[in-house]
Amino acid sequence: MSTLDISCEDIFDLVGAWHDRELSERDQNAFEQHLLICPPCLAYSDRVRRALAALEATATVAVPEGLSGRVATAVLEQARSASE
Ligand SMILES: [Zn+2]
Repeated sequence: MSTLDISCEDIFDLVGAWHDRELSERDQNAFEQHLLICPPCLAYSDRVRRALAALEATATVAVPEGLSGRVATAVLEQARSASE
């Protein structure tokens, strides 16, 4: 897979792992390449990052495993309903 083959759907799938730095170097590069050419995904990843940063700032315990993905999904659904 070349770096340009990553799709917006892949961004939605990977954003939680990207935030948690769980992507392989190759996937992370592909992810960030996509953000450079796709403003909606850049805005989306930025919203996810800010939502997770706010969550982590207020959390007194470590963010549970899998939560990043759920927050990413919630932000995506918010963005979709806001654009309708
Ligand atoms: Zn995209």
